[in-house]
Amino acid sequence: MFSRLESKYVEIPLRDSAVRLTTKILCHQDPVAGGNKYYKLKYNLLRAKELGLSHVVTMGGAFSNHLAATARACRSLGIRSTGIVRGEPVSNITLNRAISDGMELVFVSRERYRARYEPGFAESVLDRASDWWLVPEGGSNEEGVRGCQEILDAYDDVFDWVAVCCGTGSTALGLSKSLKPHQRLLGFCVLRHADEIKERFNGNEQVEINADFHFGGYAKSTQKLEKYCEDFHHDSGIEIEPIYTGKMFFGLHQMISEGRFAAGSRIIALHTGGMQYLKED
Ligand SMILES: *Cc1c(COP(=O)(O)O)cnc(C)c1O
Repeated sequence: MFSRLESKYVEIPLRDSAVRLTTKILCHQDPVAGGNKYYKLKYNLLRAKELGLSHVVTMGGAFSNHLAATARACRSLGIRSTGIVRGEPVSNITLNRAISDGMELVFVSRERYRARYEPGFAESVLDRASDWWLVPEGGSNEEGVRGCQEILDAYDDVFDWVAVCCGTGSTALGLSKSLKPHQRLLGFCVLRHADEIKERFNGNEQVEINADFHFGGYAKSTQKLEKYCEDFHHDSGIEIEPIYTGKMFFGLHQMISEGRFAAGSRIIALHTGGMQYLKED
């Protein structure tokens, strides 16, 4: 774990296009603990180890890719993990896998979950003093952003545009700090609050945040988007899902067909993962 995550590059076929689109699949080696969550967890778990803490507490929704990744990564490092889950107790692939990876789950009402950013939230839910490393929802803290600065490597210098989907925007923030001067970042919001995400970039002119392809909000989808994801899989051999990467690829395809990129542009679209809830392993 955290030695190095191998990515896979695949050229996406485009019809009559003056641009080239390549995807870098971050979850190729590990669909559960890979993807962007690997990078967000890396310095969090290394920090826990460094501080001699053998317990990690984190939180998320019942379908959270982050919970699944944290449980798996903690197991591989021999760290105990607890997940605070939003809402009534339920059972699904994500949570069952987290449990079998050794994560202890504690369900809290949606109302109570709203206080998740307040200091002392985890202590009050777990009813004891902290002896753990706390990873916020989605792994979106300083350590998380730092890890995402390692997603791009020297091979990626050939690309003009780096595309990624944004939940909290932490992955995009890490990427923005590692861009080369000739590169631009294009972030596709998968939720409605684009303004909050835009603010995180402090007017960085290398960053463009697109809010046109959220399809109504987080985890909202349409038949058109579902169909797009199926066709994409059929045409490219790559599986995508409609919550994250599907929205990015849909947006990219539309922008490409509208001629929004200069002729000859090379675009790298990051496949951040998200497939864990569709498959048992
Ligand atoms: C969590 C997640 C994201 C969102 O990452 P942020 O850093 O919160 O923007 C994107 N894609 C996938 C597949 C994810 O699981």
